[in-house]
Amino acid sequence: MGKLDIRNLQKVFADGDRSIVAVDDLYIDVDDGEFLIFVGPSGCGKSTTLRCIAGLETATEGMILLNGDDITRQPPTERDIAMVFQNYALYPHMSARKNIAFGLKMSTDMSKDEIERRVQQTAEMMGIEDLLDKKPGELSGGQQQRVALGRAIVREPEVFLMDEPLSNLDAKLRTTMRTELQNLQQNLGVTTIYVTHDQTEAMTMGDRIAILDGGELQQLGTPLECYYEPANRFVAGFIGSPSMNFFEVEYADSALVHDAFRYELSQATREELVGREGPLTLGIRPESIEIVDAGSSDDSIRAPVSVTEPMGETTYVYVDIGDERYTVTLDGERVVEPGTTLDIVIPEEKMHLFDAKTGETVKSRSVSAATNVDVNARA
Ligand code: ATP
Repeated sequence: MGKLDIRNLQKVFADGDRSIVAVDDLYIDVDDGEFLIFVGPSGCGKSTTLRCIAGLETATEGMILLNGDDITRQPPTERDIAMVFQNYALYPHMSARKNIAFGLKMSTDMSKDEIERRVQQTAEMMGIEDLLDKKPGELSGGQQQRVALGRAIVREPEVFLMDEPLSNLDAKLRTTMRTELQNLQQNLGVTTIYVTHDQTEAMTMGDRIAILDGGELQQLGTPLECYYEPANRFVAGFIGSPSMNFFEVEYADSALVHDAFRYELSQATREELVGREGPLTLGIRPESIEIVDAGSSDDSIRAPVSVTEPMGETTYVYVDIGDERYTVTLDGERVVEPGTTLDIVIPEEKMHLFDAKTGETVKSRSVSAATNVDVNARA
């Protein structure tokens, strides 16, 4: 069992005569066995939240419950929680075997034989049996990270906390380790919170994502919910790569009016927007934009191409509309030259609208409509 409840957590740091609210009123229930990702830009409070859960920082306000027990003020060693750090934090003078065994030696009264058995078993699981007698300095980054993970796993904790554990690895190894970590988490079934600023890791690894900004929770949901039904403009811009395009428009007389275009809305969308006249932000993902033949549609927008980035399977095309640059994702087989002009269309069913002032979502897509999955029909 590893049910973790974060209740109105607040952490304030004193910085001279200033105070920094690193985490603000965070309320998240993490289910037993869940893989939860914390994602957000640098300084949004991810690491501080993790450190409060581990007991490395003391919460200013709020509570942290593990299986219903209040652990907010418990010392780290008494919490049944293991943390894996970005820099591995291995003891350089100890072999991998000793590094993995260290926590068990310090926090349990296990016999030497039992510790050795557990270390061996964990090393086999992590594929590092041959490295056990080497010191960290003799290991590659990926191997050190496996040892660091082994050190957390061997303790069989209720909760794993992982703070950007893959960010020191090269891109290829990172992708491999990402899948391995997912498999490992599923096999062990241990509740895991994983911090990253990489939205690809956030989308692909976890059961749910908690998106933070400025110490505040912006949205808690499955990757697809956050992608198709973002709670606000911040989430819409943060999740998805390349990022969603945003146009500042004015809603008046049944149309969205931009300096470079006028977009007539359907009756159904107008009904959703009753009472919303005035400034709105229109959002459209790069892959949702359609290209039409020149002059074939009254609704198309002329978009001069400034730069193209062929990625192989897809090509990112950067176009200029008004004073802003926007991204269109095209099939890689379609060749577009810089200097030419595209006629682009924003399909209404894929459009997002946000309150221009607060950023709150006014209209979004729906996961079930977008993916043909009836979310409510899931058992
Ligand atoms: P990163 O992705 O860069 O690691 P983060 O989302 O993990 O960022 P935190 O490290 O949790 O962010 O920091 C949140 C805020 O709290 C930042 O403004 C940071 O400067 C501040 N902060 C963190 N630790 C301390 C500290 N010990 N003293 C003062 N301010 C701190």
